[in-house]
Amino acid sequence: FCNSGAEANEACIKLARRYMRVVRQRDAYEIITLGGCFHGRTLGALAATGRESLSNGFTPLPEGFRQVPAKDLEALRAAITPATAAVLVEVVQGEGGVVPLPADYLHGVQALCREKDILFLCDEVQAGFCRTGKFWAFQLYDLEPDAISMAKSLANGLPMGAMLATDEMARGFEAGSHATTFGGGALTSAVAAKTVEIMLRDHLAQRAAALGAHLKEQLQALGQRLPGKIREVRGVGLMLGIELSGDGQPVWEELLRRGYICNLSHGVTLRLLPPLTIDEADLDGFARVLEEVLRAN
Ligand SMILES: *Cc1c(COP(=O)(O)O)cnc(C)c1O
Repeated sequence: FCNSGAEANEACIKLARRYMRVVRQRDAYEIITLGGCFHGRTLGALAATGRESLSNGFTPLPEGFRQVPAKDLEALRAAITPATAAVLVEVVQGEGGVVPLPADYLHGVQALCREKDILFLCDEVQAGFCRTGKFWAFQLYDLEPDAISMAKSLANGLPMGAMLATDEMARGFEAGSHATTFGGGALTSAVAAKTVEIMLRDHLAQRAAALGAHLKEQLQALGQRLPGKIREVRGVGLMLGIELSGDGQPVWEELLRRGYICNLSHGVTLRLLPPLTIDEADLDGFARVLEEVLRAN
């Protein structure tokens, strides 16, 4: 247990390295990530993210990271060397603009990891905890990661992260290998336990799947009614992205003025991450207001 998503990824990276070194006796330490990813803002997580705009001014970053374009299995295959320890992916890239990676590509990544005897890691920090309509995003495609990182929704707004690994990979840590003072503190742990209990009790994954499908349908219909305004509606469950054809800034600002807090990714994609408990009527209200705003912009 830790305090943030970045730290949860650091734990994943540290465990991958130590598992390879200590358990497998291999000098494999490199982590491969995908273009468009986001893994956090600590130095290691920044190196994993590999985005110049975020690391500008903070160099040197730790070594041992390599990035390949997403959705290109051959590029990944070519990047794997004896120094490779793991591949780290987001099943649905969040900060990258809500980009769901295709199921066949993800299965290809996992198969390649097995073939090359390296670890397959999923960053569930944004997509985890029922957001995509499954408890974990990797369950959308029946993937079997060796470890996952989580945070954001875990303690429902209190700072908490965690890293979960298979028994095999967990052999890489012994007591004392990795820790943090506030990790697993009593207050955040109690809140997290109750949060997860409520997620399961109230079937929030199924709820996210149903409400997300409903909203996506409305947004796609809106795209048809307003040709030239919406390029694409992407995402799964209540993790949706609306890529606009033009500048998204005025649309985003007007939505904010009207009470809707979206996120604008790359200046063109509105990212929607509503509460999993949101009422359908509020989603319908958003779709109505978005139509008005798009017609005026
Ligand atoms: C937000 C996010 C992080 C970083 O989490 P922090 O709690 O901000 O450190 C890592 N990975 C993904 C996919 C995220 O969305």
